[in-house]
Amino acid sequence: MASGFEKLQELKDKMLAPLFEKRRHLGCEACGHTFYGYYTKEPQTVFDFAVTLEEGASVFLPPCPIESCGMGTAGIYDAQTALHHFLKRKEKERKKAERKAKKDAEPVRVSKKLTYSNKQSFNDRIDHLAANPDEMTKYEIMSSYFMDQVFWKKFGAGCHTLESRHFTIKKRLWDGTYMSNSGKTRMGGFTAYFEVTNNQTGKVREVGTKSVNAALDRRTNRRNDSDRNFGLPNSRGYR
Ligand SMILES: [Zn+2]
Repeated sequence: MASGFEKLQELKDKMLAPLFEKRRHLGCEACGHTFYGYYTKEPQTVFDFAVTLEEGASVFLPPCPIESCGMGTAGIYDAQTALHHFLKRKEKERKKAERKAKKDAEPVRVSKKLTYSNKQSFNDRIDHLAANPDEMTKYEIMSSYFMDQVFWKKFGAGCHTLESRHFTIKKRLWDGTYMSNSGKTRMGGFTAYFEVTNNQTGKVREVGTKSVNAALDRRTNRRNDSDRNFGLPNSRGYR
C-alpha cells in the first residue's frame, strides 16, 4: 500500500506531467537561434539552473542546440523574448560600430600643423614613424601627444630614448598621482613629456610641459583646497 506522502507525490507528478510533455518554442539570446524543445524535471548538466515558472513549478530548460554557440542553457528564453534580446543587442552593436566608423572617418587634428585625413592615415603615420623615426617632421616632434603615440608604438610603456636625424628625444614621465581627499584611493596618473636635444646646436627643449602643467592644475583642483574655495562656486558662480 502506498503511503499518504507517496500518493501526494504521485498526484503532484500527474499534475506537472503536461508541463514536461508540451513542446515549447524556445530561443537563445546569445546566438539568436530558435528551436523546439521540452522543459525537463532534472538538469542535463551541472551548469544548468532551475527556472521558476509563473505557475510556481521549477523546471530546467534544454541547452542551445547550436554547438558553436556554447552558451548551454544560460541564454534560453521563450523564442520571442530570446529573439527580442538578441536583436536588441545586435542593434546596439551595429550602432556602436556605425559611431566608431563615423568617428574613424573624421580628420584627426592633433594641432593646427598636424592634421591627418582620418584615423587610419593617422595610425599609418604612427606605424611608419615608429619604423622610420628619421622621417619625423619638426611639428610631429614638437607635439607631446604625437610623440607619445610613436613611443608607445615603438617601445610600449615606460621611458625610452629615440634618435631622429640630429635629434635625441627622451621620454619622461611626470608622476601626477596623489592620494584622494579621504586618503583611501590613489588618484591622477602619469603625464608624458619629452626632452629633445638638437645634437647640432646642443640646445635642449622640453616638449609637453604644457600637459604637465595642466595635470598639475587638475591635481590641485581638490575640495580641501582653500585656494579653490573648497570646491564651492565663488560669487560669479565659478569654481
Ligand atoms: Zn545559442
